[in-house]
Parts: sequence; C-alpha cells; structure tokens
Amino acid sequence: MTDEPVVGIDLGTTNSVVAFVNPAGAAEAIADEDGQRTIPSVVHFPEGGDPVVGSLAKQQAVVDPHRVAAAFKRGMGRRTFLDDDREFVVDGTTYPPEALSAMVLKKLKQAAEAHFRGEVRKAIITVPAYFGDAERKATVTAGEMAGLDVLRVINEPTAAALAHGLGGDAEAGTILVFDLGGGTFDVTVMAVGADGSLEVKSTGGDHRFGGLDFDRLIVDRMAAVVQAETGADLRADPYAHQDALAKAEEMKKELSRKETSTRPLTAGGRSVMFTLTRAEFDGLLAESGHLQEAEDHIINTIEDAGMEPGGITSVLMVGGSSRIIAFKDLVERVIGREPQFSKNLDEDVARGAAFMAAKLEETVDPDGPGAALAQLPTPVDVASRGLGVQALDSQGGGQLVNVVLIDANTPVPAHAEQTFGASRADQTDLELVLTEGEETDLDFVTELGRTKGTFSKPVPLGHPVTVRLEYSVDQRITAKAIDGHSGDLLCELEVKSETAISDDEKAALLSTLANTTIG
Ligand code: AMP
Repeated sequence: MTDEPVVGIDLGTTNSVVAFVNPAGAAEAIADEDGQRTIPSVVHFPEGGDPVVGSLAKQQAVVDPHRVAAAFKRGMGRRTFLDDDREFVVDGTTYPPEALSAMVLKKLKQAAEAHFRGEVRKAIITVPAYFGDAERKATVTAGEMAGLDVLRVINEPTAAALAHGLGGDAEAGTILVFDLGGGTFDVTVMAVGADGSLEVKSTGGDHRFGGLDFDRLIVDRMAAVVQAETGADLRADPYAHQDALAKAEEMKKELSRKETSTRPLTAGGRSVMFTLTRAEFDGLLAESGHLQEAEDHIINTIEDAGMEPGGITSVLMVGGSSRIIAFKDLVERVIGREPQFSKNLDEDVARGAAFMAAKLEETVDPDGPGAALAQLPTPVDVASRGLGVQALDSQGGGQLVNVVLIDANTPVPAHAEQTFGASRADQTDLELVLTEGEETDLDFVTELGRTKGTFSKPVPLGHPVTVRLEYSVDQRITAKAIDGHSGDLLCELEVKSETAISDDEKAALLSTLANTTIG
C-alpha cells in the first residue's frame, strides 16, 4: 500500500481525462478549476503569455487560428501533425506533437494536484491499441516532459473494457470494443474470462479516422452551399473556416439526437442558413466510404481473432463518435447484436487506466471497500505489430527480406527466437536489423534499429546464429544475436525509437514546463 496518489490518463485526440480510484474503490474523473472533467486536447499560445489548454484554447481556434494546435495526437512520434506536413511553429519555436501533448498532460497533472492538494507524479497513460513503438515512446516522453512518472502505457480498449467490466457487467465470452473517437478508430476483440479477466485477441483500426473527418465532410457540404448562394469560398478565410468547423461539430452531435440541425454561416460579408438532416449526414458518411471502411475494419479484426461475427457475445461502444446513429446501426447489422454503450462514454478509458494504476501501485486497501480491485486480474495485451529481423531469403534468390519472429496480436510479454545461417564463407561480422511490420517485403516494414557484432573468429557459410527477441509488458523491445556454437553474445539492441524530438528540445521544454502553470 502506498499513499502517493496515482492517476489514469486518457490522452485523447480531441479530449483528455484524468481519473483516480477513490478509497471506496470507485474510479472518478477529476474536474479542472472550471469544473470540467473532459478537457479539449487543444493548446493556445497567447502572445506574450503562458500556454492555455482546454476549452478556452479551443475557443481561440476561431480568433487566433495560427497560435492554436489541435488533433496533434495524430502525429505522435513524428515532427508534425499538420496535413500539409509543415511543422507547427509559434514565435520561432517548433512544437512537435510530443511537446503539445506534454502541455495537455501538465494541465491534467495540475487538476489532479489541486484535487489531492499535493504532488501527483505517477500515472498510466492510454494509447490506441495499434500505436507502434515510436508512438508509445513519444507518449512516455510527453509524460516525462510534463513531470510525470509514466508507470505504463496501456491500450485504450483494454482500459475501457476494464472500466466496463468493473461496473458489474462482466460476462464470460468474447467482447468487441468499437472505439471511434475524434481522430482515431480502434476495433478490439477480447476474451472475457468468468473471473473478469481480459485478454486481447486482435486489434485493428485506423489512426487517421474519426470525428474530425466527419466534421470536415460537413464543412465541405457547407462550403458548396455557401459557394452556390454567395459565390464566396468559405475555406479561403481562416476565421470563417474555423467557425464552420466548430458549427459542423455542433451539428454532427445534434444529429445524434435529432433528425435535423440548422446553423447560420457567414462568408463574403453575407449570412447563409445551413440545414443538414440526419439522412443527409448518413449519405455523406456512406458516399465518403467511411461506413464501408468501418465495416471492413470490424470484419477483418474479427477474422484476425480467428472468429466469425456470430461468435461475438457483446459489443462495447466507446469514444464520442460511437454516438453517431449510422455507426450504431452498422455495428448492429454486422454483428447481429445491439451494442452496449459504456455508462460514462467520455470517461471510461481514463477510469479503466485509473483502476490499472491503483492495482499496480496498490493504492487501495485490500481489506477495505475496494477489495474487488485487488482481485482484478491484470489484463493481457498483445503486440500491436509484428516484430522481426532482416535476413537473406535462402529460397528466393538471396535478397534481403523481413522475417517476422513475433506475430502481430501475440500476447505480451512475448519472446521468440530463430536460428539463421551465416551468409558468407569466412564471415567475420554481422548486422542485426530489427523491424516492425508483417510484410516480407522490406519496403513495407519500419526499421526499429540496427547494430553490429563480430564473431571471435571467421565462421563458415551457414554457421548458426540465433536471434532472440523479447517484448516486455511495458512494450520495451530487446534483440540479441547469439553464436549458435559458442553461445557467445554477438550483439544486443534495445529499441530506442527515433524520438521526433531532440534532446535539446526536450530539455528546453522540460525546464519551461516545470516553471509554467498551464492556463
Ligand atoms: P473522444 O476522442 O472519444 O473524446 O471523441 C470525441 C469526438 O466525438 C469528437 O469528434 C466529437 O465531435 C464526437 N462526439 C461527441 N459527442 C458526439 C455525439 N453526440 N454525436 C456525434 N459525435 C460526437
């Protein structure tokens, strides 16, 4: 048992939430100083002032669009998140997605500290299940820059199911989590044991698919209507464009409750009333191919788990965009079951992370009212992508190919080894190249790292070399090459993915953030 508070954080594309487990064993989201529990993941850099995160920043998107960053989670692990690949620069400083995420995390940390009236360092942060190594590392770096000690990153659907299961709804079977948020779409098939244990069987989805795309569809329709009525281009004026985006989001949400929605739009000095019906919105989703894409992801993920849609015993809808009626209907048609909505759609992922954090850190009295938490089985996660090495293809003419050692969707921790033969006579050294991806063709996989090793003496063609890969629970990857005869360790590699942020940038941000209160 420890007294130090621990929190679970849902670092979302559109919104973020921080939660903790109270002494009674229930997970609660923490409100910020304005009483908000769902904080928009938006950062505004006011001229000459400290950064502002949340609703106020979101409102500034209309007034001060060049100094506002949103949806940066989509670029996590890369230098930028902007569609045109420009970097996001304010007053000469570049802010990569990790840095912006650090500001959101700092805001959540402040809210938690105000709640606990003391320092909060330990946190679990959730990520989409299919985030690769670089994105997971970037998430941890963002946490560090915010002054957090990131105990683990866990998958969002696992966290959601955990929160849902603890609500007393757990039933042995196979659950499909349909998580459609603001910027990411995640489908997960999980086995639920009679004891409430959770095991991820397969994951799929698309990390550039979500509510923001639906908003843009509506803006496209708005622009066409405005063009026809006034001749003005709504998107040419950044202020009119931001205003249209904000209204598109409102209308989209309204259409989850009502059959029709209307807003005034201003462009070229004129006002136009714009109306959209639910049937028209459904039409936009169908025409754009989004409904079909979602259906394909559902079916593929179920197949990856070696199952048929009929084998799914319950469906859990997570993420704000799962409220859209067209997606609910789609899920119902494909699986043949009415989906369940989590009771706290916007907070469940953070609550699940808080449960996991409390369990790991044993912050709840095992003999007290939260005893059920101590009994909670630790969920099993899977490797989101295949892991392997480059090797010469012995059958296919000797070109370099990718050989997968740990398949995607293998439960973690995982380890695997395979023995290869030296490719030349009198070989003196070797290069170990670690890859991420399922394809054989190296063009379609990501290189995670490489290192060189030397044999103690030249070895003949075909001399055995064993490659051993380990994938730990916290998703650290290590690779070793071992001489198959002598047992000597030839080389070793722990994956440090290229962080998109340089050490200098990280240090600068760390000190800036340590001395800044996020507004
Ligand atoms: P999340 O990332 O899970 O917080 O999801 C946020 C996304 O859900 C945003 O794109 C919202 O516009 C969208 N959203 C929230 N509520 C609704 C609703 N009632 N109907 C449709 N979309 C919604």
